[in-house]
Amino acid sequence: MSWVNDMMRSLKDKTAISDFIPVNEELKYITRRKRLVEELKGKGIQSSSVLEAIKQVPRQYFITDALIEFAYQDKAYPIGAGQTISQPYTVARQTELLDLKPGDKVLEIGTGSGYQSVVLVAAGANLFSIERQEDLHLITKRKLKELGYELKCFFGDGFEGLPNEAPFDKIIVTAGASEIPEKLLRQLKVGGYMVLPYGTGNKKRMYRIERLNETEFERKDCGACAFVPMLRGTEKL
Ligand code: SAH
Repeated sequence: MSWVNDMMRSLKDKTAISDFIPVNEELKYITRRKRLVEELKGKGIQSSSVLEAIKQVPRQYFITDALIEFAYQDKAYPIGAGQTISQPYTVARQTELLDLKPGDKVLEIGTGSGYQSVVLVAAGANLFSIERQEDLHLITKRKLKELGYELKCFFGDGFEGLPNEAPFDKIIVTAGASEIPEKLLRQLKVGGYMVLPYGTGNKKRMYRIERLNETEFERKDCGACAFVPMLRGTEKL
């Protein structure tokens, strides 16, 4: 796995976002990523830090080998265990809605492939990510470590959040919730945002919930979306 060594070398002294790109990455991927950024701009993504993060993170490393040639299509793909890697537009949109400030302490529910996680780190987050499926958690945690990305991965039920690490500046849920995860709202700082897909059945909408003070929250509807379900409890190997 020579690309892992190359990448680790490039990530050793991580001082700039550009260090997310492996040293000898094939040119075709860099070109495709630039094209994807233009496509996302055309679809309405405006945040320069989010577009820059998408431009830096090599999505081909988060996709199963058989689908690698499609890594820069704006589509979700299966990653095993009945789960999917989110569509780049969705990743960019959720990240944009978080309105990240450098060093924001962020909780992500649904590590999955780790792609959204690394985009959040590239956009400046100090990231804590939870996954409920043990096999996915273990595979992704090892991969992210090999690649040299700095984030903390936890195995557990995202509905519980991480009370020992709370409060968080921002919370992002990357699975579709049929109920509002109340415990997560309590782990949000006043002035912080939680971005989550929410709704009954298959009809989900993206919401950004702002914590106004200790007891009050404000909800903004940010449009229709589609996600795999947010499930309670954990699944062990
Ligand atoms: N952001 C990921 C998306 C993965 S799909 C990516 O781009 O790859 C959603 C993920 O949420 C799945 O891996 C699923 O197992 C996980 N998930 C669903 N409910 C959860 C819960 N309650 N706690 C933690 N993870 C959960």
